[in-house]
Amino acid sequence: GLPAVPGRPLAPRRVSRRLQVGSVAVGGDAPVSVQSMTTTVTADIGATLQQIAELTASGCQIVRVACPSQDDADALPVIAKKSQIPVIADIHFQPKYVFAAIDAGCAAVRVNPGNIRQFDDRVKEIAKAASGAGVPIRIGVNAGSLDKRLLEKYGKATPEALVESALWECSLFEEHGFRDIKISVKHNDPVVMVNAYRQLAARCDYPLHLGVTEAGPAFQGTIKSAVAFGALLSEGIGDTIRVSLSAPPVEEVKVGIQILESLNLRQRRLEIVSCPSCGRAQVDVYKLADQVTAGLEGMEVPLRVAVMGCVVNGPGEAREADLGVASGNGKGQIFVKGEVIKTVPESKIVETLIEEAMNIARRMEDE
Ligand code: SF4
Repeated sequence: GLPAVPGRPLAPRRVSRRLQVGSVAVGGDAPVSVQSMTTTVTADIGATLQQIAELTASGCQIVRVACPSQDDADALPVIAKKSQIPVIADIHFQPKYVFAAIDAGCAAVRVNPGNIRQFDDRVKEIAKAASGAGVPIRIGVNAGSLDKRLLEKYGKATPEALVESALWECSLFEEHGFRDIKISVKHNDPVVMVNAYRQLAARCDYPLHLGVTEAGPAFQGTIKSAVAFGALLSEGIGDTIRVSLSAPPVEEVKVGIQILESLNLRQRRLEIVSCPSCGRAQVDVYKLADQVTAGLEGMEVPLRVAVMGCVVNGPGEAREADLGVASGNGKGQIFVKGEVIKTVPESKIVETLIEEAMNIARRMEDE
């Protein structure tokens, strides 16, 4: 086939029902959204709101907060009201917190009716309250907390087991006419996870929340999530994503956004096209690429900036870039759209690139 046209995703989106998580639409033709989860004790309202503000600033669109105790439930009204982005309450076992979250103005609730039912069967009331308040529910099936019955049937958390569990959970709401559902079927193994979501995508039209659970520390978790989300999103599967890292949640958001940008599911912003360096390099490419990245961080316009280690291939290799530098002899050739516009001493490369980036950004905004 033809290579992907820049600006277009790899495949059309799977057709899913559209839900409203507060101000953010999920599913249908709504853009794939990025979410994360706070790591603070939810009852610590100040710390939680502070982290939500940081997440919002980093581009997070939906935030989930855990609600394991009454103190946490009591904090929800203030958090839901003051958060700049929709808040999802994450609840296990306790129906009373589900009602509290709905009353508190949370935009959605993550709860599995299966585990509610084991203790206090109020699934029907939950369906009624959620539908009355226009609050969707995420059913989150996790390899680690799979139903005993299904573990026995399948031997372990196979894709089939995860999907059967998710669809069974859905049926507990469907029997009460409730269908404002999104689903996740998370597993720590990207291959199992991808197979589970593929099967699930084929068997229902609910929007899907992608996640590789317990993906690990930043490096491993980033790779696992990028690979798994990449496989699914490139087939059009996935409506909202959460990267799970054993790292601060802002890092999860950065990774999530980068994954969407890489797949053309979101307008790219700053992109550094830097060479890997080689024996011809006449400058420390890694350091220069880091300095340019840091200097241009936060630029909102889409901009490809090439950082090349030598003048031999520099401008040629980076013709597609908006702006770039090729270094040699203690100098940097600065080029715009592949044309060298000036040569500056090495010490001035970063500031010149920033200056030129600003000029280009200004021209782009004027257009
Ligand atoms: Fe090597 Fe120059 Fe290519 Fe960088 S741009 S990889 S230094 S040939």
